[in-house]
Amino acid sequence: MSSSSRTRFAPSPTGRLHLGNVRTALFNFLFARSCGGAFVLRIEDTDEERSREDAVAAILADLDWLGLDWDEGPDRGGECGPYRQSWRSTIYDDQLERLERTGHVYPCWRTSGELKAFRRACIASGKPPIYERDWARLPEDEIERRAEAGAKPALRFRVPDTGSVQFDDLVRGPQTFGLTDIGDFVVRRSDGTPAFFFGNAVDDALMGISHVFRGEDHLSNTPRQILLLRAMGMEPPRYGHLPLVVGDDGAPLSKRSGATSLADLRDDGILPAAVANLVARLGHACDRGDLMDMEGLASQFSVARIGRAPARFDPIQLEHWQSLAIQATSDVVLTAWAGEAALGLVPAASRAAFMHWVRPNVQRPDDVARWADILYGEGPRFDPDTIEELRAVDGRFFRIALRAAGEGGHSLAEVSAAVKAVLGVKGRALFRPLRLALTGAGAGPELGPLFDLLPVTTLLSRLGRWAEGTSDSETNDQNP
Ligand code: GLU
Repeated sequence: MSSSSRTRFAPSPTGRLHLGNVRTALFNFLFARSCGGAFVLRIEDTDEERSREDAVAAILADLDWLGLDWDEGPDRGGECGPYRQSWRSTIYDDQLERLERTGHVYPCWRTSGELKAFRRACIASGKPPIYERDWARLPEDEIERRAEAGAKPALRFRVPDTGSVQFDDLVRGPQTFGLTDIGDFVVRRSDGTPAFFFGNAVDDALMGISHVFRGEDHLSNTPRQILLLRAMGMEPPRYGHLPLVVGDDGAPLSKRSGATSLADLRDDGILPAAVANLVARLGHACDRGDLMDMEGLASQFSVARIGRAPARFDPIQLEHWQSLAIQATSDVVLTAWAGEAALGLVPAASRAAFMHWVRPNVQRPDDVARWADILYGEGPRFDPDTIEELRAVDGRFFRIALRAAGEGGHSLAEVSAAVKAVLGVKGRALFRPLRLALTGAGAGPELGPLFDLLPVTTLLSRLGRWAEGTSDSETNDQNP
């Protein structure tokens, strides 16, 4: 593939990015990076009613968080700018004028009420709601009447009567669309703004976009856009339509599928590398199963590996990538990820060691907070089964452990050696009671460092509680 390949992501700023459009962004980005091409960010904000300024900033922030780096875009310019459609109106006006001059478009004075009535009538009579050629064009006297009344016309592209549009979809292979199935479509709305078909296609051509990956919901738009570009003497990009992203129930992603907006995932503590590795495999087969950075993902990316079946978002897979991402993240970044809310209880001098210790056992900042609380806050919470299990331990066990720890041997090695020497216990019978007594949990991060992380007074009080056999408080162990 030539290094002049150019791809783009062209979101409409109407809300937060969800996994479906994150996948579109990532595939375009990875394709560009896989062949040394450029990745362009274009904001499609011509729909004044639905576009929101805060959504523009949020999209840029989301992409940045994910680690996508665009070469040209609204915040950094480039040779083909501006990169927001709302800033390109003179470009559109020029191009629309060309289309008018060449007779490819005509003014359409039909009101939305008339268009709706037409659709209803078509559907009622069992016909597809496709305008017969020039249906939307009114008789001259009617045009004059409406112009005098001050109404502004839309501009409609005149689709040729016969023939077909063919293109070779990068994902779905050869496609043919008969022109009789395509109605004359609006290229400029009556409020003067460019319609999606027009702005999107013209910008791709003017920005030299060579490849477009987008959701298959756009497949039926593509023949219209190719017709339009050919009428304008412009080169259409190669299009690849990606299968839908569905939830693990097979239905399109929705609230029921859990958190699927990038913002929700981030707020939930998911790391960007986990999202990138999951999404890079949504409908794209990677032959490496390890966690990769963007460069690695790009080196694996190939159009031939994009599937045609709906791509399933599996929350279990997300957890898998999350745990690999946590292991791969630097201490500094992981500490920032856990945040002050989770680490506030941890003494400053122990934070690095604590994060290192807890890392293999956490999936979210909340898990870090829970371990911080067990070590430095409320302490272990003992459920009735644990209390029963600890009470059943040989009474000498904790007395020996306490004595060893009290005499200065605070490490797991010293405490366990003392117990073992007297009682002869080893393995699970030796380590489980210690873990339970110190954390209240049967599983968790490594036991050895726990002895080093716990303040000595806490260690002694937790061992001491079970050395006495009974405790005043069965449920809670307050730190001194
Ligand atoms: N603004 C369009 C969207 O968000 C872009 C479609 C495309 O990628 O061509 O759906």
